[in-house]
Amino acid sequence: MNWHLLPLSEISQLLNTTPSGIDAITASERLCEHGKNQIEDKKKKTIVQMLICQLSDFMILILIAAAIVSGIIGDLTDTLIILAIIFLNALVGFIQEYQAEKAMEALKKMATNYARILREGKTMDIPTYNLVPGDVVVLEAGNVIPADIRFFETHQVKVDESALTGESNNAEKNSDDLPKGNYALGDQVNMGYKGTSITHGRALAYVVATGMRTELGHIAKMLQTEETTTPLQKRLADFGKRLSVVILIICTIIFFIGWLRGESVMTMLITSISLAVAAIPEALPALVTIALAFGAKKLAKNNALIRKLPAVETLGSVTYICSDKTGTLTLNKMTVQEIFETSDTKYTAVFEEKNRLLHAMALNNDVSKGENGNWLGDSTEVALVQYANDKNLNRAELEDTLPRIAELPFDSKRKCMTTIHQIQNTTGEIMVITKGAVDVLLHKLNADQNLHIPEFECKVNEMAEKGYRVLGYAMKTLSSLPENLDSNEIETGLTLIGFVGMIDPPREEARQAVLQCKEAGIIPVMITGDHKLTAKAIAEKLGIISSKEDLVLTGIELSVLTQNEFINIVEKVRVYARVNPEQKLRIITALQSKNHFVAMTGDGVNDAPALKNADIGIAMGINGTEVSKEASHMILLDDNFATIIVAVQHGRKIFDNILKFIKYIMTGNSGEIWAIFLAPLFGLPIPLMAIHILWINLVTDGLPGLTLASEPAEANIMKRQPRNSTESIFSKGMTLHILWVGFLMGIVTIGMQAYAIHVANSHWQTMTFTVLCFSQLGHVMAIRSERDSTFKIGFLSNKPMVGALLITVTLQLMIIYVPFCNEIFKTQPLTMYELLLTLAVSSTVFWAVEIEKWIKNIKK
Ligand code: ATP
Repeated sequence: MNWHLLPLSEISQLLNTTPSGIDAITASERLCEHGKNQIEDKKKKTIVQMLICQLSDFMILILIAAAIVSGIIGDLTDTLIILAIIFLNALVGFIQEYQAEKAMEALKKMATNYARILREGKTMDIPTYNLVPGDVVVLEAGNVIPADIRFFETHQVKVDESALTGESNNAEKNSDDLPKGNYALGDQVNMGYKGTSITHGRALAYVVATGMRTELGHIAKMLQTEETTTPLQKRLADFGKRLSVVILIICTIIFFIGWLRGESVMTMLITSISLAVAAIPEALPALVTIALAFGAKKLAKNNALIRKLPAVETLGSVTYICSDKTGTLTLNKMTVQEIFETSDTKYTAVFEEKNRLLHAMALNNDVSKGENGNWLGDSTEVALVQYANDKNLNRAELEDTLPRIAELPFDSKRKCMTTIHQIQNTTGEIMVITKGAVDVLLHKLNADQNLHIPEFECKVNEMAEKGYRVLGYAMKTLSSLPENLDSNEIETGLTLIGFVGMIDPPREEARQAVLQCKEAGIIPVMITGDHKLTAKAIAEKLGIISSKEDLVLTGIELSVLTQNEFINIVEKVRVYARVNPEQKLRIITALQSKNHFVAMTGDGVNDAPALKNADIGIAMGINGTEVSKEASHMILLDDNFATIIVAVQHGRKIFDNILKFIKYIMTGNSGEIWAIFLAPLFGLPIPLMAIHILWINLVTDGLPGLTLASEPAEANIMKRQPRNSTESIFSKGMTLHILWVGFLMGIVTIGMQAYAIHVANSHWQTMTFTVLCFSQLGHVMAIRSERDSTFKIGFLSNKPMVGALLITVTLQLMIIYVPFCNEIFKTQPLTMYELLLTLAVSSTVFWAVEIEKWIKNIKK
């Protein structure tokens, strides 16, 4: 339908709606008819596809082929067992992938956007997926347009349509009918399209198309992007590829050594391939995703909603947190504390009463009354209207006598807002009311008042030093409304009528969080559009500024510095005041050039570039614009600075636990390789059969390893410096640990084998198999903490691990003692002495790693 060519009256007829919106019953009927206003996701993998994917790894396919060949020419039971274990392995992998996907879906659901609409004249916020054609949407700067719409009222509206048209300049919009003709999407100036965003102004519009019927829906397939991989996953995948080559070479050598020692070709083929399957960590990147997805789920419970999975991983590397003041470090609960009226009486007559300032406060704002009588809108404006209202100045009544005919909406770059009102009973005279940051407003005054600027500044500083946000009000009258609403022309020659000082108290928990932040080697920085003195007073209260060396820089001071000069001082600046959102990008670049890892918060429409470019862009869940949320990596559901610190702590813990998991898996694999590689060199037979290797890979490696994710945070987690993001994960002794502990595991295993064979014990293979299995369990217990001994952190402090260890031990005992399992796994029941001996020998690894930690602590 060519909605852009139809006159508004026809559109409202076609959609059976009015400028006050439709009613609830019609809306629910239309929702059934048109479906949800959602872009359908790309086709998801079916359960069968997910399972096949698990089985389609190259080495697994070779193992399946080898097992089948061996079954045909030899033992069929072995083949069936190998196939069963491979299938079980795939099943476990599938269950994990499925759960991770569910966790991510749940996160996506939490990030639901809301649209402000009118239904039967009442303003309400509804989830955007419930919008239907005919709904009236109320839009303002920062909103993402929720459906395809036709504007019927616009105030200085500009829309960023780059997502749809590729055009980077903002398109101006209006509600005029267009003459007949062919219009490209970008030229349909009375229309707005789903997924584009309002960068300026306010508007009312009819929803004309929803969901897959929108322009975005038509091109949805083109827009569906691949999921992002995290830096750690990329590194692991690369590392895995190189490691695979090494392991394949080792397995080939093992194959030949075994064969030369007289083992059958088929046995050696299956043993060496099983070893390759067990030792190549091909599942590690997927397991990291699972750990991150579950980590993200936990973070959401702590009010930090992850939008991009890599953020979970990178949180632990943050060295700078640059945070907005209003709402994040403060409560965003403004209350007017003090007002000051200038003695200029020029415009008193317009209001017919003396209190001009109160009139201006009631008139110049965009708040609206919500369903239950509360004020909806920006907290600064709500405070102002509330104050005027408490002084008996009713906004609605005032607007009857001084109706608003035009406006210049607030933007954080201009730092002011203007409303223009028709003065009744005059010859078309109009009144301009401007409110905004006083230092900005002082440059817009008429010549008479310019003389009084020092006095005004003195009063403003007095208020700002108390930590107040100070807003000024100024006005003028004009004989008629100018055709072109240019802020430079309208917001000039004004008469200042007074100031208002508001307090927005610091959040109590933010003070504590700032302290924690500093202890954790992270520097908190406050960025605000507010006055330098207001910002400084609040920063001191919060502990962000704690010494004389800590600098406060204003946007103007920043703008005169060259990038090099700025880089030289950037590490000293703790507060940026009166900055424009655009300057945030400069701050990020300067810090990043000093190798810092920057988390940056943002809530406004202009914050999107900074959020995208920060290492972690953090948007506000309550007061953030949708544009900022879309650009962010993480959303704070409670807008609270303290939540960032909690998220960093969780991020560090999740990363620690992923490293522990990698350490565990790789050391276990290294142990298996050492054992099988070294045995023939010592003149021993191959210690384990293929099914033993696969069993260890499935049970011992899998279950207890996964429970490392539940390991509580290390005691010093927020007392140590942030992790260097460029540092390899295999540094810090990780490689050494994997090699030496693996070697020890191998030696202990073949030591047991050699001894048992030496004393002619016919159970030698069962004992060797059990030693390798239990050694790994000892290892997992010992690596639960990087530095603290397991005796200190307590054996029972990770409950899921206790459960996993019990299950693994029970399964191993079943393999040893249940006759049916004996047949399958070719094991024999051990005597009590043999079992205790294997237990004692296996504990060597546990003690060795405990000693390693003890030595590390002494060296500290
Ligand atoms: P933050 O501290 O999170 O940066 P902020 O509210 O200080 O938020 P902006 O919203 O950019 O930052 O506001 C900048 C300045 O503009 C404020 O200090 C205030 O002086 C002025 N201002 C804020 N809201 C309005 C408004 N609704 N109308 C007019 N002026 C405003």
